[in-house]
Amino acid sequence: MKEQNGDDKVTDERVNFIQQQIIDDLKAGKNGGLIHTRFPPEPNGYLHIGHAKSICLNFGLAKTFAGICNLRFDDTNPSREEVEYVDSIKEDVKWLGFDWGAENEFFASDYFVKLHDYAVQLIDMGKAYVCDLSPSETRDYRGTLQTVGRNSPFRERSVAENIDLFRRMRNGEFTDGSRVLRAKIDMSSGNMNMRDPVIYRIAKVAHHRTADAWCIYPMYDFAHGLSDAIEGITHSICTLEFEDHRPLYDWFIEQLQTPCRPRQIEFARLNLSYTVMSKRKLMQLVDEKLVSGWDDPRLPTLSGLRRRGFTPESIRNFCDRIGVAKRNSMVDVALLEHAVREDLNQKAARYMAVLNPLKVVIENYPEGEIEQLDAVNNPEDESMGKRKIPFAREIYIERDDFMEDAPKKFYRLTEGREVRLRYAYFIRCERIEKDKNGEITTIYCTYDPASRGGSSPDGRKVKATLHWVAIATAATAEVRLYDRLFSEPNPAAAKDGDLFTRKINPDSLTVLEDCWIEPALADVAAGRAVQFERLGYFIVDSKDSTAENPVFNRTVTLRDNWAKKAGKQPFKNRRSDRK
Ligand code: ATP
Ligand code: MG
Repeated sequence: MKEQNGDDKVTDERVNFIQQQIIDDLKAGKNGGLIHTRFPPEPNGYLHIGHAKSICLNFGLAKTFAGICNLRFDDTNPSREEVEYVDSIKEDVKWLGFDWGAENEFFASDYFVKLHDYAVQLIDMGKAYVCDLSPSETRDYRGTLQTVGRNSPFRERSVAENIDLFRRMRNGEFTDGSRVLRAKIDMSSGNMNMRDPVIYRIAKVAHHRTADAWCIYPMYDFAHGLSDAIEGITHSICTLEFEDHRPLYDWFIEQLQTPCRPRQIEFARLNLSYTVMSKRKLMQLVDEKLVSGWDDPRLPTLSGLRRRGFTPESIRNFCDRIGVAKRNSMVDVALLEHAVREDLNQKAARYMAVLNPLKVVIENYPEGEIEQLDAVNNPEDESMGKRKIPFAREIYIERDDFMEDAPKKFYRLTEGREVRLRYAYFIRCERIEKDKNGEITTIYCTYDPASRGGSSPDGRKVKATLHWVAIATAATAEVRLYDRLFSEPNPAAAKDGDLFTRKINPDSLTVLEDCWIEPALADVAAGRAVQFERLGYFIVDSKDSTAENPVFNRTVTLRDNWAKKAGKQPFKNRRSDRK
């Protein structure tokens, strides 16, 4: 979807239902032609890729329709909220590439006085009352989907009594849970949310912004819609589970005659295969130390994805591709991996690194000599230039690239076989040496000096090109290979949702400590993505890497290994398919 043009038409044909809604509202002249959205996180955990979908949607709409998008923290539940989360959310939204501007940063807690006044107004109108039922009695009176609820015995309290009790609730005269303020709507409503919902509760808990100023806090449904109204939000976009809350959202706004009347629109939340996305489950993984923290590179959190090497562009492209729908579905995580591959293919410089080293001695190469060979940094992008790679008599290749008594289809190195060393020479394996356990320790080869640069001197063909590093000049590194955190596509499936931690993939992290990298890689800065030729995309770990012990995280393999295993077609480049 492109920028809006003069006559309120959008230039691209791919308009989703929310954009269509907005176009219609603009045509009808609603809200004075203004579009104002918000991204409203609760600061009770770190943001995940699902939030990214909401961020891209809300900020994207503001951009497309020349409007504004607020960042508003819905911080009405102090017992679960922390400043750490507020800070991480800001960092993540910025990293993703969205700038809300200082003037558009808000906190629901800034409205505690206004919200309190709104509650008092409802009491004055006879539309809210203080209820003394215990939580279990409240549940009991509420009824079920099949049976209507019953009116609370406190429902007909006088306005004066309600005003007095609510004031005393606020003054801290009652214990937590002993009383609540409820909206007086309809205990027989078919919509459970309309059965006199609680709008204020007592919680003698300090708030991370208002400290001890309050001991009563507004409930989410009450605070959320009214905060939207206070901010002048025109389109309040939320996920489908709030569809049933919309009548309540509208009820508060109608009763209170707020100056602005935001409209709630729901869309399907993002679910991603082989992971979990609810903050409660993510927090459980962190608390039980099943992952190293909120930024563990295996988590779908934005901080985890960043540390893993995902780029903001790849995440935005992914969000763009999955689109916005009205029906819940599960998106294949392979699509996210595809998006980052596609981006890094353009951006990442290629280097050589050997993860499982096997020593090769090239017997006819002069001892002690080191020559500098030319290598291209990115064949996809000439402007990324060239570099030199040192070559010498002793090198490491990948252990997997050699096989004794290889079957016919194995094209890499075996005794008597010739292969190409990337950017270097053709080498032929002459013999091997083993230790007393029968493990291969060294491969002895000869090279053809006429094949310098890796080109065939006489048209003879080799079927494989191997990556390598020269031992004398290589540096060591630790490499962390990540795989999907869960071994099942839907680990949080309803039946045994709480047992999801048992479905963790035991191979989700493999740490390789004896890896060798070409010298140029030792200078790669944290945060810069690189490709290890033939192996995948990697990034220096932002936390654990040091000059003495560089640590690289594998972002993603070069190809979709899972699709291969499952016999599925990997994702094609859908962008170019579309053209
Ligand atoms: P969780 O269910 O993971 O705890 P949440 O909905 O409680 O998430 P909020 O902080 O309230 O988290 O979310 C902020 C915004 O992000 C809300 O508008 C919410 O609808 C949206 N959001 C949360 N999860 C997803 C998701 N998986 N896909 C799309 N939007 C999401
Ligand atoms: Mg929520």
